[in-house]
Amino acid sequence: PPVLVWIRRDLRLSDHAALTAAVACGGPVIPVFLRDHTVDDLGAAPKWRLEQGLRVFAKALEDKGSRLILRAGPAREVIPALVAATGARAVYWMRAYDPASVERDTDVKSALKEAGIEARSFAGHLLFEPWDVETQQGGYYKVYSPMWRAVKDREVPEPTAAPAHLPASATWPDSAALDDWQLGAAMNRGAAVLAKHVQPGEAAAQAKLGQFAAHRIDAYKQDRDLLAEDATSGMSEYLSLGEISPARLWHVGLRAKAEGKAGAEHFLKELVWREFSYHLMWHTPRLLTDNWREEWGGFPWRTDRRLREVTAWQQARTGMAVVDAALREMYVTGRMHNRARMIVASYLTKHMMIHWKIGLDWFEDCLVDWDPASNALGWQWVAGSGPDAAPYFRVFNPETQQKKFDPDNAYLKRWLAEGQRTPPQTALDYFEAVPRSWGLSPQDPYPRPIVGTDEGRQAALHAYETREF
Ligand code: FAD
Repeated sequence: PPVLVWIRRDLRLSDHAALTAAVACGGPVIPVFLRDHTVDDLGAAPKWRLEQGLRVFAKALEDKGSRLILRAGPAREVIPALVAATGARAVYWMRAYDPASVERDTDVKSALKEAGIEARSFAGHLLFEPWDVETQQGGYYKVYSPMWRAVKDREVPEPTAAPAHLPASATWPDSAALDDWQLGAAMNRGAAVLAKHVQPGEAAAQAKLGQFAAHRIDAYKQDRDLLAEDATSGMSEYLSLGEISPARLWHVGLRAKAEGKAGAEHFLKELVWREFSYHLMWHTPRLLTDNWREEWGGFPWRTDRRLREVTAWQQARTGMAVVDAALREMYVTGRMHNRARMIVASYLTKHMMIHWKIGLDWFEDCLVDWDPASNALGWQWVAGSGPDAAPYFRVFNPETQQKKFDPDNAYLKRWLAEGQRTPPQTALDYFEAVPRSWGLSPQDPYPRPIVGTDEGRQAALHAYETREF
């Protein structure tokens, strides 16, 4: 009898423990992807990116003699029904750690077990399971550095190869058509611009990783903060959909370290930031929705989404050049430089005194590398409400940051059309990508800062000093 492999955010064939185990069973393997509420709830760009990933993954399965069955509906109903229809003996999947997925998976697992069907989940979306990393006192790490020291020398299994062949089912169950799902619909006209910057799939991920390991990991530590440089791995969108496994990245980092590449250890450290955020999400799911430090509930952030500052920030027209450049980079490419993420988040939550949740939601709608844990940790880290966060009174000065990390203005020129006689295509693409209803044109005069650097800093510090906790 066949084994169903329930594919979720693990669109790869190599280092895929569930798929490998299913093949080892010796019978047919039926990969199935389910469009359930966790998919319907995705933001516009992540959902569009998922469609790109699914298309490439389905093709990769076909090249191995298999196919991807698409179904829609609640997992609790659809998975057992598919088991019944195919006569499957087991359902295997790769574990997820966000609260919505955990609840769903627990539910499906018990339904399957009640029906006498084997249900097994496998590790692989993380390097270390959240329950396997504990402080000496017991409990999870709330501070990053000791967690890094605790895991850095742990054994991480080498990534496994893709199965040479996937045993096909004699009869395939019906499948929905990906195009009918219209997963990219919410992107409207922006999708054509975004598509220029996205290369979905496992093969693209591995090729890009190879380039990084060969040419850039050595200088990673020194160059990673430069806004206009392509100095980082670009792996986040692939990790987000599981088109590459973190174990593969870890081993690339280890090998580079062994070869004496200067930036390798720092790269490994960043991978542990991802682990840190996942472990925190697993142990304290409120990381995604509420101030992780509960006392921050009393902080006077503004929460009205119709404020003109919110609109200006979302439309990348704050008048603060580096902030606008970064927000436009995100709108056009679906990604944003890590330092720029910190700068725009600080400007929103401190200079503008807007709640981090409004920024988090905007990122969730715009990022092709959207990740629930890293996004939430990033926002709460900058806002000051999160675990191991930057102290609130450390307010990023956007102008100083720009001078330091974009000394020749290359980043500003790449993304801001206003005031340039012949703006580059990247800057013009922003106006191509945004909804017409925003009424923006590259000929518009560039706005004056909606909140000035010093004025915003004073307001933020005043709020902090007079807070009621
Ligand atoms: P590299 O520098 O090459 O790093 C390698 C990998 O390490 C990354 O792919 C990522 O998986 C991990 N990593 C690096 N920095 C961090 C970090 N600060 N926190 C957690 N993991 C990290 N990352 C996302 O993947 N999705 C998000 O939605 C997201 N939202 C963020 C929001 C804010 C406000 C901030 C400050 C950061 C956010 N990050 C997010 C973290 C970081 O900005 C990105 O992971 C990074 O820019 C991705 O580029 P890269 O793959 O080239 O990273």
